[in-house]
Amino acid sequence: MDYSRVLPVLAVVIPCYNEEDVLPETIGRITQVLEELTRDRFIAEGSFLVCVDDGSKDRTWAIIEAHQRLNRRVAGIKLARNAGHQRALLAGLQSARARADCVVSIDADLQDDPEAIREFIAKFREGCDIVYGIRRSRGTDSAFKRHTAQWFYKLMRKLGADVEYNHADYRLMSRRALEQLDRFKEVNVFLRGIVPLIGFRSECVYYDRNERWAGESKYPLKKMLSFAWDGITSLSVTPIRLVTAAGFALFVLSLFAGVYAVVRKMTGNTVTGWASLMVSLWFVGGVQLISLGLIGEYIGKIYKEVKRRPLYVIEEDVPAQTEQIAVSG
Ligand code: UDP
Ligand code: MG
Repeated sequence: MDYSRVLPVLAVVIPCYNEEDVLPETIGRITQVLEELTRDRFIAEGSFLVCVDDGSKDRTWAIIEAHQRLNRRVAGIKLARNAGHQRALLAGLQSARARADCVVSIDADLQDDPEAIREFIAKFREGCDIVYGIRRSRGTDSAFKRHTAQWFYKLMRKLGADVEYNHADYRLMSRRALEQLDRFKEVNVFLRGIVPLIGFRSECVYYDRNERWAGESKYPLKKMLSFAWDGITSLSVTPIRLVTAAGFALFVLSLFAGVYAVVRKMTGNTVTGWASLMVSLWFVGGVQLISLGLIGEYIGKIYKEVKRRPLYVIEEDVPAQTEQIAVSG
């Protein structure tokens, strides 16, 4: 469809895990953006936002339900248990896809500036299927997070995964792109690595990243590391190739060492090298263990993939009142 003339229905998907402190503000701000975009005839009247409660333990779902009753633009999805950020996002995308022409995903904490949605829509109406929100500055993130994130993006690219620098999960996708996303059947969902693989026309929009509006990060160090590790091992086989290469290198080295040992013995110059023996023993043992661990990691991933478990379970689904308008045109 040519969206330069017809107004698209936009859905904004917000994954929420224990976000009672920020959610009312977030819903308010995004509703306001939707109102403005509708008023300026950028998007269709039936546009809405979908809050996905990712098995929160606080009042998140109660807040979503209350807003759904009062705010005609709010829809809610409640996952039966905590499925994780990426899967919660996927649940929202897959649910919104059927009812919207394009979907923007955004975190609940207002770190990503909702005003950038206007530019997202402008690009979409020019014919872009995917628009990446890129953080212009990360001044508000801690130095630790900034550096580890930089290394992570560099490493990912080195390993052959086509991730956008400083892009998290703030992006727009057209319905067409979302339909293609469904064909990626991975259980280890790492959206920012998968979306570039779709390959439709994409562009970047730059924005300033704010501090979390309220509440605490739902990504403690442990979760962050596990997320990074998942990203690397589910998108790249380079680590396992490095292990093989190291194995070969060690093999060649040990040949030289063997020759050296024989020569030493023939010249009658054998010192009982207990220390070096032990060192090499430990070294090789260590390398072997690392290799086994890595192989195990990949086998573990294969195991998860073949099980084909559902990625999330929806417990409740309340549509937004504007969606009625969206459906009836
Ligand atoms: N989130 C989620 N499920 C989780 C963890 C986080 O849906 O298990 C959501 C969270 O509510 C937020 C987004 O994912 O909307 C990003 O989390 P957060 O802002 O805490 O991460 P950070 O910005 O600190 O990396
Ligand atoms: Mg955040």
